[in-house]
Amino acid sequence: MALERTFSIIKPDATRRNLTGKVNAMLEEAGLRIIAQKRIRMTRENAETFYAVHKERPFFGELVDFMISGPVVVQVLEGENAIAKNRDVMGATNPKDAAEGTIRKTFAESIEANSVHGSDSQANAAIEIAYFFAGSELVG
Ligand code: ATP
Ligand code: MG
Repeated sequence: MALERTFSIIKPDATRRNLTGKVNAMLEEAGLRIIAQKRIRMTRENAETFYAVHKERPFFGELVDFMISGPVVVQVLEGENAIAKNRDVMGATNPKDAAEGTIRKTFAESIEANSVHGSDSQANAAIEIAYFFAGSELVG
């Protein structure tokens, strides 16, 4: 088992419904430690860069509009196998497919407004953390 760091976002649908604390409780319950966290409003450029991998997808424009529709909470989570562990507690992208007890099953409104993001690999976790946080903001 490896101590890993992953990048997480509490998306605008969740901050709008005042769910930051409830999402954080589920992350902590799963054994993830929130070692950095800040509430920001993404710029259009931030959102387009962040989801650039999806820019050819039909939902890209709406996804960017959604991500800048309200504040988000960006986070760095640390724990044993944090990347896979966070993906487990998040649940499937579409809340209809998400397992009982997961964040998306519990809180997501739709496949787009699905409450949380989590990095999908070590390489992407490192890129995403460095995009939003300075090294001095990571307090393990
Ligand atoms: P994320 O990258 O946000 O953690 P994910 O890895 O589960 O989610 P991706 O396939 O990377 O899913 O999609 C990125 C995001 O794009 C999703 O979380 C969701 O907000 C949105 N999305 C994905 N598929 C669709 C779709 N078919 N229609 C609308 N929005 C979508
Ligand atoms: Mg993804």
